Formats: sequence, structure tokens, C-alpha cells
Amino acid sequence: MTTTTETQEIFHKKFHFGAPGSFRFVGIWSAPGSGTREHNISAYNDAMASRPAGCNMSCACCGMGIIHHHMVRDSNNEQFAVGSSCIEKLNDTVLLTASKKAELDRQKAIRAQKRADKRQENQRKVEAELDAERLRNDGLTDHEVMRNKRDALENCAVEQREDVLDELYTSLRAAGGNFARDMYRQLIAGHVPTGRARSILIEIMTKTSGRANSKAYKAAYPVNEAKFDALMITIEDINTTTQTKWDQLGG
Ligand SMILES: [Zn+2]
Repeated sequence: MTTTTETQEIFHKKFHFGAPGSFRFVGIWSAPGSGTREHNISAYNDAMASRPAGCNMSCACCGMGIIHHHMVRDSNNEQFAVGSSCIEKLNDTVLLTASKKAELDRQKAIRAQKRADKRQENQRKVEAELDAERLRNDGLTDHEVMRNKRDALENCAVEQREDVLDELYTSLRAAGGNFARDMYRQLIAGHVPTGRARSILIEIMTKTSGRANSKAYKAAYPVNEAKFDALMITIEDINTTTQTKWDQLGG
């Protein structure tokens, strides 16, 4: 039966790798990429100049070239850096756990940065599109142009309804009160009342002809009913025409 080699020491010409537990994990330092070197040489040089101790682009354990330096401090307080696979050779569970966590954090930070970059890029595209729209539309976005057209159509419809409802408005004003005021507001907005609201409006129109249930009132009621329904057909025609114009605009 063989015993495990947990306490086996690792030797290095310079670093005292020692037994497990004799070094501690410092962190990961990633060298700037070749993209940075090509496109921003001063940023590359700055990053390289300020690199932490022991980070020399090669693994202190096997000598292979590395980008991501897992920095470790040995029992002599000497700092060195190894690659992600060689850190396992140091045979230290605590160290390896810390290193793996740092690697996960590094990946997480990269993903977060990518998401942030993507958001910024999308935002930039949206802004560029809006700028192009403003250039085409005398300073307005397409959305603002459409909103103005819709407002113009609706204002036009309100004016038409006000003309149509001129006579009814006189009756409603004579009647006064919240109901009359609310009804008029709804009517000029294009809402056609039905049921009880319709009946009350016809009663209001008819009251100018005489007291309720009087002969004159009874005679005027069906006339006003027909007049009211004709008015509502006109309102609905205005609504339909407005909607058609809006549809033609592609709204
Ligand atoms: Zn190595």
C-alpha cells in the first residue's frame, strides 16, 4: 500500500515552493492582449510596466508562456506566478480553491464587461439612429414626427366634433352639472354614449321643449332621439375617417 504524497515538497531553482500550506494565493493578473498591443501601444506599455511582481509572461513552475498569472507568495515572502494548470502541482487545496475562485470571478467580470459593452453599443446605435432621424426631419425623431401627425389628426377631429355638437353643447350648458360636463368632454373625444347615458342626454335636449311628461316634451322626445342618433353617426364617421388617415400614415 502506498501513502499519499500530500506533504511532498516541490523544488524550484529560485522559489521555495515548500510543502502545501507554505504559500498563499495573491490573485490573478492578466497580461494585456495582442489587440491592445496593436491598437493602443501606450495602454499596453502602461499595463506591462505596472504588472505585479513575479508576472513575467511565463509560468514559474514549467516555464510555459502564460497570459493569466496566478500569483502566489511563498514561505520566504517571494512572489511568483504560475499558470492555471501548474497551480495544481503545488498540491495545496486551500491555494487551489482560492485560485479557482479567482478564476471564476475573473470569468464573471469578463462576462459582466461584455454585457456592459453590448449595452453601450446598443445605446450608441440607438443614439446614431435618432441623430439620423433628426437630420432627416428638421430636428425631430421619427417618433416625434408621428406623434405630431397624430396630434394634428386628433385636434382636427376634435374641431369637427365640436362643430357637430354645437347645438347639443348649448343644451348641456343649460343643464349644467358634472354629468353634462363629463359627457361633453367624452363626446368631443369621440366616445359615443349608449344605454342610460344616451337616454339622459336625449332627456336633457328635450327639457328645453318643456317639463318632463308634458305634451310638448313627449312630442319633442322622439324628434330629439332621432337627432341625437344622427349626431352620433356623424361622430362615428369622424372617428372612422380619423382612424383611416392614421392607418394610412402607418401609425
Ligand atoms: Zn506551468
